[in-house]
Amino acid sequence: MSIFSEVKEKTTKWREDGIKIFKEQCALIRQYPIACMYCKKENPISSWIFIQIKHYVRPHGCTEGDYWINGKTETCTITCPECKQENYLYNHPQKTEIVELADSSPFDKKMIFSDVKERYD
Ligand SMILES: [Zn+2]
Repeated sequence: MSIFSEVKEKTTKWREDGIKIFKEQCALIRQYPIACMYCKKENPISSWIFIQIKHYVRPHGCTEGDYWINGKTETCTITCPECKQENYLYNHPQKTEIVELADSSPFDKKMIFSDVKERYD
């Protein structure tokens, strides 16, 4: 086997292993149970809807237009799959864990939650 085909084979395997581990870790995170503050039922994070709050930023200066920015994760809400009540993350007992999963994991919110919706403030 030439050195080039060996390198190609090993990097392909390394990439495939990486994708496999990435998918496994994502599936694991999606099982993380969240308890509803209203109905008290526990459901995996993958069945909750994340509501991203957007804040309006007025134009300032003469070259800049107005725009919207994402509110911090802890100031957003998640919708319970059972009772459909929105749980405000700031008051949620699992706030720290949920914020860490949403902001620090290598997975996008769209991969963790069942859906991500935007709300303009
Ligand atoms: Zn509920």
